[in-house]
Amino acid sequence: MNNGSITGLELSPRKIEYLKYLLNQDGSVKTNQISNHFGVDPSTITKTIIELSNEGYLKHIPYRGVQLTDKGQEYAKFLVKRHRILSLMFSHYGIDKDEACTEVARFESKVSKKVIDQICDSMGHPTISACGKISHAECNYLK
Ligand SMILES: [Zn+2]
Ligand SMILES: [Zn+2]
Repeated sequence: MNNGSITGLELSPRKIEYLKYLLNQDGSVKTNQISNHFGVDPSTITKTIIELSNEGYLKHIPYRGVQLTDKGQEYAKFLVKRHRILSLMFSHYGIDKDEACTEVARFESKVSKKVIDQICDSMGHPTISACGKISHAECNYLK
């Protein structure tokens, strides 16, 4: 996937949470496992899963559940990075770790990849934030 082609504004907050969750799972995940994790109705999950599959982020493995496609995996890595860059920015202003996480989760879906790339660059490609490591594999700048 060409990362230059994503704006970062493609997905709703709910879809973002699903992709991030799936990135942390090993292999395929059953729909009811996802609905249990998020505490929502399986029928709601199914609808969203079908949309994510149609958009090419997920693939359905018969009898085994869903799994991220390569595109989904790349996108999910961007989502994690965006969250962590923004959390780090908040920490720089003295907001504590948990609060930064919660605040960022409220608006991260609205911040474009272009802006994240710029912040990342101006921060000097930081490798760690309050909520985990930051990868720069897909940054346009080499360290
Ligand atoms: Zn966080
Ligand atoms: Zn970077």
